[in-house]
Amino acid sequence: MIEQLQTIGVIGAGQMGGGIAQVSAAAGYDVVIADISEEAAQAGLDKLKAQTQKAVDAGRMQADDRDAIVGRISVTGTMDGLSGCDLVIEAASENEAVKRKIFVDLCPVLKPEALIASNTSSISITRLAAATDRPERFMGIHFMNPVPRMKLVELVRGIATADEVFDVARAYVDKLGKTSTVSEDFPAFIVNRILLPMINEAIYTLYEGVGSVEAIDTAMKLGANHPMGPLELADFIGLDTCLAIMQVLHDGLADSKYRPCPLLVKYVEAGWLGRKSGRGFYDYRGETPVPTR
Ligand code: NAD
Repeated sequence: MIEQLQTIGVIGAGQMGGGIAQVSAAAGYDVVIADISEEAAQAGLDKLKAQTQKAVDAGRMQADDRDAIVGRISVTGTMDGLSGCDLVIEAASENEAVKRKIFVDLCPVLKPEALIASNTSSISITRLAAATDRPERFMGIHFMNPVPRMKLVELVRGIATADEVFDVARAYVDKLGKTSTVSEDFPAFIVNRILLPMINEAIYTLYEGVGSVEAIDTAMKLGANHPMGPLELADFIGLDTCLAIMQVLHDGLADSKYRPCPLLVKYVEAGWLGRKSGRGFYDYRGETPVPTR
């Protein structure tokens, strides 16, 4: 059993993978980031460098700390590049087939005692674990976005997860300075079981013409004291991820109250995925975000 983690692998160099790499390196771990190609992984690292530089410029981070973080991170475009990792956290797109294929390819290169975790927002940890050769060394470590700023991490055991593995994951989260909560392995766990139906309802409110994008976000910010409006938050999460989570809730709980709003489906089909693609419920391509409805 690995009790001392030294090297953390992160698969998926998107918004979440970059953040997980940053906080892990900041806590002193060596980190290897993988994506579909070395270029994609490097693009993730470049973004991380730009974001940490911004933090230095704003006085939120020391330049030495930033250099230490970047110095502990390397990139790879192949699974082989992850062979030395003690823990690999999968943070690729929210698609079960993609994640399962990653685990099938990853397991043969890992040392037998290495741990695997998924940052999935909604997919069954037990089902993902079954795609690996080590379900007892597999669990959910669900970070929040943006990772460097959000305090919570949900820990999710699969049916086979060993207690020692859970303890190692909890100690890792503690070392990152974050608070963990434990969620049972049900669709979307705790945070997204509650949050995503609220966001989906906000999209229905828009779809049915009850209010404009601006009216809905202002109403929830000033009327319910939410720091971000639900549509702004949906864009921040990524509309593809929001839709995937609603589909997991709908399929997994078989209740029509979780049906994804057709307008959400339409935005995803258009490739309007929110901030990460430059357009969603707001258009981010200019100086300030402009509502798209
Ligand atoms: P993203 O779209 O920003 O990034 C996904 C990355 O995965 C991309 O860089 C993509 O190239 C990479 N990828 C896709 N297929 C791959 C493969 N086969 N091998 C390696 N890399 C691959 O998405 P994200 O927002 O970072 O979300 C990633 C995961 O984190 C999802 O499971 C999501 O549900 C979860 N999550 C997201 C949020 C959020 O708010 N966005 C919060 C918590 C958890």
